[in-house]
Amino acid sequence: MRRFDFLQISYMNPVNLNSADQANLGLARAHHWDAFHQAMRPRLGATAKFTREEPLAVKTTIRLGGSARLYAEPGSEEDMRLLLNAAAAAGIAVLPLGRGSNLIVPDAGVEALVISMAHENWAKFEARPDGAVWVGAGLRLKNLCGLAAKAGLTGFEFLEGIPGNVGGALRMNAGAMGGWMFDVVEAVQLITASGESRTLERAAMHVDYRHCAELHDAIALGALLRPSAHADTEAVGRQIDVYKKKRQESQPREPSAGCIFKNPPGNSAGRLIDQSGLKGERVGDAEVSPIHANFMVNRGAATSADLIELVRRVRARVRVAQGVELEPEVLLYGQQWKDVL
Ligand SMILES: Cc1cc2nc3c(=O)[nH]c(=O)nc-3n(C[C@H](O)[C@H](O)[C@H](O)COP(=O)(O)OP(=O)(O)OC[C@H]3O[C@@H](n4cnc5c(N)ncnc54)[C@H](O)[C@@H]3O)c2cc1C
Repeated sequence: MRRFDFLQISYMNPVNLNSADQANLGLARAHHWDAFHQAMRPRLGATAKFTREEPLAVKTTIRLGGSARLYAEPGSEEDMRLLLNAAAAAGIAVLPLGRGSNLIVPDAGVEALVISMAHENWAKFEARPDGAVWVGAGLRLKNLCGLAAKAGLTGFEFLEGIPGNVGGALRMNAGAMGGWMFDVVEAVQLITASGESRTLERAAMHVDYRHCAELHDAIALGALLRPSAHADTEAVGRQIDVYKKKRQESQPREPSAGCIFKNPPGNSAGRLIDQSGLKGERVGDAEVSPIHANFMVNRGAATSADLIELVRRVRARVRVAQGVELEPEVLLYGQQWKDVL
């Protein structure tokens, strides 16, 4: 695992095992996850969710993939710290989860503890007297836009229509309509893999296109944002509607994970895919959207294997037809694309 892989369970390579050994290995693994779950459940706050084999497809926008061996929705920083410390001690990898709008979950699921920011305690929006706004990492970008408009604050409208939350947008430095998440960030509060809470000023962070280095091995808990100005609520609302309409006209409605590939410098991945004649290309129920060539949609029963095969095919065709190597923007949860492409 690439992200948040401060420690991992190292398994024997099952390739050389006979079927009885494989079954035993499966039981040993299940026992390991069960033991962690049983030990931690009583230590977490009453409102925290903590489960085994939680299906992840429904927690992603593209709606495919398997389960998390362990899944938590901690309700406090203390819960978060307990989980991180215990996972590190047990050699269990941790994967943060936002709204799953930039993820492909493998069909076999993830051998990790997934920590989601879905608990309501992470969805705060507080306008500060000095004009800044404090937002929790679990706040949906849609709600951030709506609450800012209501408070008469402008500067966040470009985030309208990005179906993630604040934490995912920080990790991805999400961007649209000429703006980037880190354009409006003053500071980020995060918790490290060892459970240490820190606040980093924007100037101390390393961010670029769809990337924030400091959040590779840490979980964002919240951020201090700076609106560009005060404005009339209706005027902010009108700008949000303009962006909403633009998206509705240019993006497919079917389940997707947004843009599959990064735009190569000075070029558009969607245009390159379209010019290679790939709109409508299909593997199983995974399809290159006929509306926007850089979106792959789930036509109903797509698997992650279908989607990965489609990514392979599109890359190969664009390489041959256009001489450009496209790099995925969506993340393969708990794995690296280079290992499957
Ligand atoms: C229809 C559609 C349109 C989209 N349009 C855009 C767009 O215009 N611009 C754009 O940039 N993206 C777009 N996306 C992609 C996606 O919405 C963004 O990347 C978004 O920021 C991801 O947020 P999320 O909460 O869903 O994160 P997730 O997909 O849940 O996670 C993404 C990554 O962030 C990590 N992560 C999540 N939460 C945290 C946290 N609290 N701390 C640290 N790491 C964390 C995860 O481990 C993972 O590595 C679109 C997606 C869809 C489906």
